[in-house]
Amino acid sequence: MTINQSGWRPTTPQAGTGSDETFTGNRALMLEEPLIFEIGGPDTTGVDFAEAPSGKSRLGGLERAAPIGLPGLSEPETVRHYTRLSRQNYAIDLGLFPLGSCTMKHNPRLNERMARLPGFADVHPLAPVDTVLGALEVIHQLAHWLVTLTGMHSVAMSPKAGAHGELCGILAIRGALEAMGQGHRKVLLVPESAHGTNPATAAFAGFSVEDIPATDEGRVNLEALKMRLGPDVAGVMITNPNTCGLFEREMRAISDAVHAAGGFVYCDGANFNAIVGRVRPGDLGIDAMHINLHKTFSTPHGGGGPGSGPVVFSEALSPFAPLPFVEKTEEGFRLVEEETAEEHHADSFGRMVAFHGQMGMFTRALTYILSHGADGLRQVAEDSVLNANYILRAMEDVLDAPFGKSGPCMHEAIFSDAGFPEGFSTIDVAKALIDEGFHPMTMYFPLVVHGAMLVEPTETESKASLDQFIGAFRSVAARAKNGDPALKTAPHFAPRRRLDETLAARKPVLAWKDPVAAEAAE
Ligand SMILES: *Cc1c(COP(=O)(O)O)cnc(C)c1O
Repeated sequence: MTINQSGWRPTTPQAGTGSDETFTGNRALMLEEPLIFEIGGPDTTGVDFAEAPSGKSRLGGLERAAPIGLPGLSEPETVRHYTRLSRQNYAIDLGLFPLGSCTMKHNPRLNERMARLPGFADVHPLAPVDTVLGALEVIHQLAHWLVTLTGMHSVAMSPKAGAHGELCGILAIRGALEAMGQGHRKVLLVPESAHGTNPATAAFAGFSVEDIPATDEGRVNLEALKMRLGPDVAGVMITNPNTCGLFEREMRAISDAVHAAGGFVYCDGANFNAIVGRVRPGDLGIDAMHINLHKTFSTPHGGGGPGSGPVVFSEALSPFAPLPFVEKTEEGFRLVEEETAEEHHADSFGRMVAFHGQMGMFTRALTYILSHGADGLRQVAEDSVLNANYILRAMEDVLDAPFGKSGPCMHEAIFSDAGFPEGFSTIDVAKALIDEGFHPMTMYFPLVVHGAMLVEPTETESKASLDQFIGAFRSVAARAKNGDPALKTAPHFAPRRRLDETLAARKPVLAWKDPVAAEAAE
């Protein structure tokens, strides 16, 4: 065994000299962990490989000239490395995750159990169709529920995230416009409060984006929207409930006006959690909407798992939806993968993904839907709205709630930094919440609210856990209002202090360079 060159070393410069520093850099059970490149070496491995058989290389002149120096660790070192790193993370299984617009809810273990059944977990996208009919049935059943819950006509299951679903919907709208000889319509109207993915999607699909102004109470300004509609407008992208946490009450009138002017209505359905079982977007005149299975239907989110963003379509847009899809025939389930002139989807705009979508997420989402039933899903929406309003009213006397007067909120409550003393802002509240053991809320979004703090508790929090969060949030908000200087340097108890996030975004360091080699090269 070779001891790797950099060897083990303490991680803090004055390690062990002060009373608040330790020799190792660890603080009790909070363990420091260097990069794998700093602790691993090419000579260490967790496996003993047999001597490679000698023989003539068949790679022509393409074989590697020098070792690539991948860092190796033994098996226990590897396990510790990743376990230590994972402990520096925050997760929904550790505590409340108030990120607004993200619907960070509990991932029921029943979903995991079902997804791990070997018949689902081991299914391969290239397996012959007649060997995976059960998987097709799962896709078809989930599709049926999504179409039923949204009151729409059809669904494309393959998009792999909300943003990917937006692209899917907008490409279908583009296909429909072109088929009608309306390909010159190049403007998509998007409210100022929209998620950044909406204008990005529109631009990516070749449209130009124009803002729709909001009313003082945080909703789309219908009159201003009507004024802008015309022969160059392809449609609108509207989030409902919107990102100010409010239901767009005039949605039907908005859709009618857009349709009368020859456009289509895309709805960002990321906030469907607040209305599932209560409102069917199809009844509001929507033509396409993505559903984030990893939000509304509880599949793991962010670093926890891949997303999945099926898109539901109105009858007008259905012919343009992407392939593949699963169809139920008299003989059973069938996977439709080709555009055929006389048969299905001759007008489909093509494919979004190589295979069929996120099978593991489909199984989880269907389990969630079936285990809740129609009444349970309705209660999800009601409880998520109740929880958000509980937070809204519990905070109003310490934090400005810009739309608090517009009535109850939907599934998320929004606050601003109005009334903070000079030099104090939303970020100070967020960082201090980390010290309190909470993931911060969404900050500075939506842009229409100054210093926005968007809090979405979801229905999975009990009153006790909401009260605990409210206690911490109130305390931190009061400290910000009183200008507590300690807040400016929070977090104090996290593995790292306040990082220079601007520098990290502007000049990201994406590759590790060996400091010894770098010094030698100079
Ligand atoms: C989460 C979200 C999206 C994007 O969904 P992803 O699955 O993250 O791509 C779009 N719009 C809104 C309002 C969202 O909350």
